[in-house]
Amino acid sequence: MRLRACGVCTMEQRLWKGTQTNYPIIPGHEPAGIITVLHPDVVLDAAVGDIVAIASLNRCMQCEACRSGRINLCTGKFVGREPGKLRRIGGFAEFTVVDAWKLFPMPGSLPFDVIALAEPVACVVHSIRHSEVQLGEDVLVIGAGTMGHLHVLLARLRGARVIVSDPDLARRQHALNHGAALALSPEELVDGVRETTGGHGVDVVYVTHVDQRSGQQACEAARRGGRVLFYGSATPPTNLSVDPNHLHRSEIRLDGAVSHTLEDWLAATRLLARGLLDVSHLVSATYPIDEISLAMDHAISGSAFRVVVTA
Ligand SMILES: [Zn+2]
Ligand SMILES: [Zn+2]
Repeated sequence: MRLRACGVCTMEQRLWKGTQTNYPIIPGHEPAGIITVLHPDVVLDAAVGDIVAIASLNRCMQCEACRSGRINLCTGKFVGREPGKLRRIGGFAEFTVVDAWKLFPMPGSLPFDVIALAEPVACVVHSIRHSEVQLGEDVLVIGAGTMGHLHVLLARLRGARVIVSDPDLARRQHALNHGAALALSPEELVDGVRETTGGHGVDVVYVTHVDQRSGQQACEAARRGGRVLFYGSATPPTNLSVDPNHLHRSEIRLDGAVSHTLEDWLAATRLLARGLLDVSHLVSATYPIDEISLAMDHAISGSAFRVVVTA
């Protein structure tokens, strides 16, 4: 593969800052590129010169989770997961070698920096499918970063009315410009949700900014019988304090979603390739790979949605 673009995600930022330390690693798990050589055994319907999104995360395909189709929950021990052994994800490079099952052909009409968003889109497709959000449901998305925005867009595609909460006014406005019906500050959240939903609360809450307060607010904003889905990890790690009587009496379901399956990838790349989902407004900046340190600093500054490295 000749790589042309790769997004800077949270994992790469943590590696850069040193808060995640599973070195040695070649990071960059959101790559897009061009096929330069195909092994003769590859049966994928693709040719040299084709443009692809790459599901670059390593999966063992042998553990129980992988065999049941839930490769996002892979527990396999393999090279790259053992301490001290090189973990090769490999998107921050000019060239890489990839298993054919990881390739998803994309049309030439889409820019590479947008194709690089296929991976975060696949993550959110997983979250949306896992929560089984239904037509006409009310949804709350806590956190309006890149992943929060993707939840807004995909929940709208699923026919939901979406409320967003974020402390940042510009992010709230961005969400309103791209499909959210209402955007609230964390201070306004619980009362605003009650008011908008006739006092009932929302059917689904996606917590994309995870901390104690957002966890608490999610449980308060969910309607009786609603679902709360924790998307993304809490840094630093934290504990939730939930009144078990509240869960008992309200039948609120607490759930999580992580990463993506091949089915999610197929859906994500079809949504992008067929023009059903426009994520171009979430690419804040691109940097040539020679200036990757600037890209990392920009991404870590918190002022951007996706920063993409190009080659
Ligand atoms: Zn990612
Ligand atoms: Zn596995």
